[in-house]
Amino acid sequence: MTKGTTAKSPARARAHKHKMSAWESKLHKRLTSERESLRSQMAEYEAQRQALVEDPDAAEMLTDLESGDIGASVEREMDLQKFANVANLLEKVEQAIGRLEQGAYTVCASCSRQIPKARMEALPYADLCVTCQERFERRYA
Ligand SMILES: [Zn+2]
Repeated sequence: MTKGTTAKSPARARAHKHKMSAWESKLHKRLTSERESLRSQMAEYEAQRQALVEDPDAAEMLTDLESGDIGASVEREMDLQKFANVANLLEKVEQAIGRLEQGAYTVCASCSRQIPKARMEALPYADLCVTCQERFERRYA
């Protein structure tokens, strides 16, 4: 077998099937840094939760909370909500990264039409075109 003489920078070769355009690479970079920040937020929440589980004082505090300290339990509720939002966003970001790597980034997940680049730049983890998004929101709002 002769070595391919036209192969460019083999060190940069990746397992991606799709060769990203400059525009896709730009968004890929944006999304991966977003993913890192979301992951570290998740890790922070996880560490806080873990600390609560392991700290006997905190455990006692939790019992107090459950017995009716409304102010504090509302705060805890909001924390859980925030955690769920971060987890949800992280999932969307990961899916968007996957679609970028497969070359399906600007394809609407519902109608398969192209999503305008401007929309993807404004909402990098969108997976629906505006029409489908609106239909979806009308149905579930
Ligand atoms: Zn659509």
